[in-house]
Amino acid sequence: MGVSGLPAARALHGLGAEVTVVNEGADERARAQAAELTALGITVRLGDGATLPDGTELVVTAPGWRPDKPLFLAASEAGVPVWGDVELAWRLRRPGAAPWLAVTGTNGKTTTVRMLASILRAAGLRTEAVGNIGVSLLDAVLGDEDGEKYDVLAVELSSYQLHWAPSLRVHSAAVLNLAPDHLDWHGSMAAYAADKGRVYEGNTVACVYNAADPATEELVRAADVEEGCRAIGFTLGTPGPSQLGVVDGILVDRAFVADRQKQAQELAEVGDVTPPAPHNIANALAAAALARAYGVAPAAVRDGLRAFRPDPHRIEKVADVAGVAYIDDSKATNTHATEASLAAYDPIVWIAGGLAKGASFDELVGGAAKRLRGVVLIGAERALIAEALARHAPEVPVVDLDRTDTGAMSAAVREAARLARPGDTVLLAPACASMDMFANYNKRGEAFADAVRELAAESG
Ligand code: ADP
Repeated sequence: MGVSGLPAARALHGLGAEVTVVNEGADERARAQAAELTALGITVRLGDGATLPDGTELVVTAPGWRPDKPLFLAASEAGVPVWGDVELAWRLRRPGAAPWLAVTGTNGKTTTVRMLASILRAAGLRTEAVGNIGVSLLDAVLGDEDGEKYDVLAVELSSYQLHWAPSLRVHSAAVLNLAPDHLDWHGSMAAYAADKGRVYEGNTVACVYNAADPATEELVRAADVEEGCRAIGFTLGTPGPSQLGVVDGILVDRAFVADRQKQAQELAEVGDVTPPAPHNIANALAAAALARAYGVAPAAVRDGLRAFRPDPHRIEKVADVAGVAYIDDSKATNTHATEASLAAYDPIVWIAGGLAKGASFDELVGGAAKRLRGVVLIGAERALIAEALARHAPEVPVVDLDRTDTGAMSAAVREAARLARPGDTVLLAPACASMDMFANYNKRGEAFADAVRELAAESG
């Protein structure tokens, strides 16, 4: 009965299915929601997420449910298919409905999908950024029953959603990058990669991969695509044929041009992208590749990128206090994202910690050691980062805040301010999930920003 379950239950009920909702929790909120669903004629089972109701012909799961749950094993034994929210939306599309341009990857999905929607809009197309963000896929699909609302959809897909979307076949898709994340859910890196790779299955026009991340190209090679579908790379260097890349500060397309051996088309300038950090230029190139695969003109790529502004808590400047810049990258919930933001500043006082999700921090810490002025650690699994720092950056001062309470962020910012010198950057890029201390990464970022503003007010 979460964000994907409730709309799915209502939609299926509306289509005439006999729906039973199973929910592990049975708290007050669940009981209230159950009463609403029951009033509609939907059966609800609270406090039992394990048993497959008798006579079930289809299981529709919330994407976050782990595949090793007993309910799924029971479904598999009974030969009952399991679909996620994305599969359901895909199956409920009208034939001829707006095609999907899909984006997945460990980091940069939301940013890239928003850039893509901005580009498509600049081209005069009716579109929406959907998936994990804003409008749900199911709402977008069901709200477009007469097929007149959207020309094309920019769709963000998580590895969980792809895992549960066996028949998805999109127009074109991009895998931005591949680094260990959510391994506790998928079971292994190979299983995680395979689920990400599903996004390429059956692509009709283009499979967009990251030339700097061979694992993404490998996924293209492994995919079964429609005849004529092309592999398109993006690179921060000079692009080869069938690639998009950067030449002298210009984003160029050497893929969707008449003669890719000899020609390159200028799309935009690096300065048209906000922020112009390397990883974000990569996101812009991926978005541009999908838009170009859909036939968007170069000028619309430029206009769409210029119009784009990043969402909060993604390398967001909060304030300068006493000559020190305070940057909120609370959305950096894994080591790969944090690596990108640590690479963008020097010297850094780094605030990190939280729930590690099974990650190892050695490589991250080793790579950034030279740029660290100091580190402040918070959260439940901060010892993992402290140990990596002791191994790879023993000379860097570390403040280990043994706290997970709500005041911890304020204390962390104060400690960071003490370590920082004018010209430094204090960077909240936790490399961990936030749920040990906060409801989500938004709340964590807000707590950081509040603490920085407090500091600014005190220093006048
Ligand atoms: P997602 O939707 O995949 O979580 P976001 O666009 O919300 O991605 O960005 C998540 C985090 O990853 C942010 O902290 C951002 O700074 C970082 N990030 C964005 N794009 C990339 C990229 N291409 N490579 C590495 N890190 C990135």
